[in-house]
Amino acid sequence: MRMSDPGFDFDLIVIGGGSGGLAGAFRAATHGARVALLEPAPLGGTCVNVGCVPKKAMWLVADLSQKISMAAQLGFSVPAPQLDWAEFIAHRQRYIVNIHHSYQQRLDQNKIALLPARARLITHDTVETSDGVRLRAPHILVATGGHPLRPRIPGAELGLVSDDFFQLCSAPARVAVIGGGYIGVELSGVLQALGSRVDMFVRGRRLLQGFDEDLTTQLVQDYLHYGTRTHFGFDVQALEQTGDGCIRLRDALGEHSEPFDKIIFATGRRPSTDDLGLEQAGIALDAKGHITVDAYQSTSVPGIYAVGDVTAHEALTPVAIAAARRLMDRVFAGDADAKLDYRDIATVVFAHPPVGKVGMTESEARLQHGDAVRVYRTGFRPMLHALADSPQRSLFKLVCVGDEERVVGIHLLGEGADEILQGFAVALKRGITKRDLDDTVAIHPTSAEELVLMR
Ligand SMILES: Cc1cc2nc3c(=O)[nH]c(=O)nc-3n(C[C@H](O)[C@H](O)[C@H](O)COP(=O)(O)OP(=O)(O)OC[C@H]3O[C@@H](n4cnc5c(N)ncnc54)[C@H](O)[C@@H]3O)c2cc1C
Repeated sequence: MRMSDPGFDFDLIVIGGGSGGLAGAFRAATHGARVALLEPAPLGGTCVNVGCVPKKAMWLVADLSQKISMAAQLGFSVPAPQLDWAEFIAHRQRYIVNIHHSYQQRLDQNKIALLPARARLITHDTVETSDGVRLRAPHILVATGGHPLRPRIPGAELGLVSDDFFQLCSAPARVAVIGGGYIGVELSGVLQALGSRVDMFVRGRRLLQGFDEDLTTQLVQDYLHYGTRTHFGFDVQALEQTGDGCIRLRDALGEHSEPFDKIIFATGRRPSTDDLGLEQAGIALDAKGHITVDAYQSTSVPGIYAVGDVTAHEALTPVAIAAARRLMDRVFAGDADAKLDYRDIATVVFAHPPVGKVGMTESEARLQHGDAVRVYRTGFRPMLHALADSPQRSLFKLVCVGDEERVVGIHLLGEGADEILQGFAVALKRGITKRDLDDTVAIHPTSAEELVLMR
């Protein structure tokens, strides 16, 4: 790293101690930069506190609950699973507190100054904390993430958002989840598996826009098998309290839903850019309030960068981390070309069963490559479900292009999809063809083998 400029308090100020901010701070410090990190809330941001980590913890117990039921089906003498939420939440939160401690330790080891305060930009190189301290640095990283959006409809305050979901201490008897994106799908699956009766209300005609439609259609069937009903084309206009303390939905035609104990909005997220001094510093935003960045994460103001959910890129923790690390390699280690390749990023929705994708969906590929697209698919019952006579089905798809049949999309719905996809994502990124899959000997008996056995 070049010499620090003594005219500045730090070489880098990071605003936000979530996935992107922490990764950027650690990588810059590794390169010898003097770093200040400003974060008023617990370390780890959305992912650690109200996102990936507690969500996956809930998914794991929900999955266990389904497996216990299957065990009974297969001859084990186990009673119907009953989760003691208080006990489990203690385990979940202990896991999270350990992550906080480990981050704090790494900050100390890397001599990163943590200021537990909100920050706002004053000029292109000056930040003011909520307790009035002014800091200057030639480089500033904005990684303030996003927050759940509550629709502007009458009675919206009666509903919960995903942050509130993690405050629940029991499974409500009847739940309405509004929204068919990944958060809606994930929370519905968890609650249904833990004993709620869930209804999903979706404005559009399908779940999980951006995922393969054959798979999401199968997922609706799998959810119905567990008891979750999905209502498509439902435009919620208001939430209304009923006399007995329940809540019901009113749609655009004035029709009322049945009453629910809890209603959860999963209707999108907004970048956290309010009161950050962005306009004052001259930083350009897009129409949805995301900070506009170029391929190198630079904003419209030299020396100020942004990563993660505050930008319009895929809102995923590993994306925020990867972008931040490459940025710091460029700024503090002289790796002039370092930038994240945003193509072919694999992602999984922790539904029941999970659904994952990497690369193009069939419809995206057909739009781009027309008749040169060839699709392979296989639908099957995973062995455990077949043994237990559960109707849950898996569906795997390969999207290939051209005479050489280059694999441009891999789409998995089913038991184990979350763990299977990562390795195949490497292969897709390396440009494999269908022939390479055909040449690979299967691992038997697994679900994963279906990917190398498609005809
Ligand atoms: C329910 C849910 C489930 C999810 N599941 C997954 C998953 O399974 N896998 C996955 O990859 N991603 C998942 N995500 C997305 C993931 O959590 C985000 O993509 C990731 O946290 C983004 O990181 P970030 O650094 O951009 O922002 P965040 O992690 O949101 O961190 C931003 C931080 O900035 C702080 N901040 C805000 N304003 C200021 C300010 N003015 N001054 C100082 N600090 C400020 C905030 O307090 C926060 O700590 C999930 C999200 C949700 C909501």
